[in-house]
Amino acid sequence: MLQDKDRIFTNIYGLRDKSLKAALKRGHFDGTADIIGKGRDWIINEMKASGLRGRGGAGFPTGLKWSFMPKEVGERPHYLVINADESEPGTCKDREIMRNDPFTLIEGCIIAGFSMLAHTCYIYVRGEYVRERQALQRAIDECYEQGYLGKDNKCGWDYDIVVHHGAGAYICGEETALLESLEGKKGQPRLKPPFPANVGLYGCPTTVNNVESIAVAPTILRRGGSWFAGIGRQNNTGTKLFCVSGHVERPCTVEEAMGISFRELIEKHCGGIRGGWDNLLAVIPGGSSVPLVPGADIVDAPMDFDGLREIKTSLGTAAVIVMDKSTDIVKAIARISYFYKHESCGQCTPCREGTGWMWRVMERMATGHAQKREIDMLLDVTKQVEGHTICALGDAAAWPIQGLVRHFRAEIERRIDEYSHNAHEVRPVLEA
Ligand code: NAD
Ligand code: SF4
Repeated sequence: MLQDKDRIFTNIYGLRDKSLKAALKRGHFDGTADIIGKGRDWIINEMKASGLRGRGGAGFPTGLKWSFMPKEVGERPHYLVINADESEPGTCKDREIMRNDPFTLIEGCIIAGFSMLAHTCYIYVRGEYVRERQALQRAIDECYEQGYLGKDNKCGWDYDIVVHHGAGAYICGEETALLESLEGKKGQPRLKPPFPANVGLYGCPTTVNNVESIAVAPTILRRGGSWFAGIGRQNNTGTKLFCVSGHVERPCTVEEAMGISFRELIEKHCGGIRGGWDNLLAVIPGGSSVPLVPGADIVDAPMDFDGLREIKTSLGTAAVIVMDKSTDIVKAIARISYFYKHESCGQCTPCREGTGWMWRVMERMATGHAQKREIDMLLDVTKQVEGHTICALGDAAAWPIQGLVRHFRAEIERRIDEYSHNAHEVRPVLEA
């Protein structure tokens, strides 16, 4: 359980004054120039020592990612790009940072930019986040006015931040699609490698980081990597913003220690499960891209990378979607399948064709209007999509279905039996 003194976000609910003046009183920009004065190697080593893993969903070590940038600037400028295109269903943590605690992000951008020799940072904000973009821009303007950004600023590193507003495509949250979109092109993922650190924005060395990953960096560097590493457990360190939605008494976004158990998270911050713990059916613990698990499997699981991997799911973005027994679980996953079909950029065949195919079959499974042998065919299709596409959207479309079949096969079969019992018509097989 996280103690108040270890919370990084001091205004995540926007209950306190949001001005720069008030943020300075709460400790933002305290010693930023001193941190920069300690040099790039010190910063990157502290970030590595903290054990921070990327908070955008993939969990790639942040310090290591920063170290991939070239150590000197050649002919190509270096860029830092912040992925604020938070679109993963259930995820709403970066939204709270941008609208309520934006100076955590701005200070993090300056320090991270310095550590990778970037003088320019782009923040790519999700199209639907209009108020968040406005709040962030207001905070950036204040920083320019009061000398924390721009040339010869108080932080000791010439730095510009440009906010770019996306147009509402989920795929632009994939880092290379985001770069394409920033360049003014259609937002479609690039093949990796090369990774952005070698060939990124405008072909230049670029690091793309999630909002939360960058927003926690100043506090880590002020308090030390070992402080952050002392929270949670090895390989799963630090504090984390969890966004809990669905059938809990009080849905919320809350900063907690990595590894808190699901039960404690829900009891302490969300007032419990609607209708009590016996009413819990299933949970998607990391945004819609990760497999669901039955409630009984997750109740005592540590909410971190390793704890959730052990029960065959993933921390993802820590968007915890709670479903009670009133949920039509097959329909819920069919709806998620529709989302991925809708958001596929259409660039590679397994995803373009497979997402539509999986959604159509899922729709029929939801009503029982299918045959039992199609369950294995559906599973087989998910395996053919998984790992055979340019970006992770193909996997993200496959995994929720795999989770459903793994844990709720009996429910799909029950519907098929029920339909079969009532129907007088011949059912189509694999109808497209
Ligand atoms: P990834 O594992 O391919 O990459 C993660 C990061 O590490 C990237 O920045 C990548 O450039 C870097 N990286 C990985 N291997 C590298 C290497 N060998 N050398 C240099 N850099 C390397 O994952 P991804 O496709 O970026 O992200 C997938 C995740 O995104 C999913 O797990 C999902 O949870 C999450 N997601 C989040 C949102 C959101 O709204 N936050 C939306 C959709 C998906
Ligand atoms: Fe586009 Fe889907 Fe291929 Fe990703 S996996 S590049 S979203 S078609």
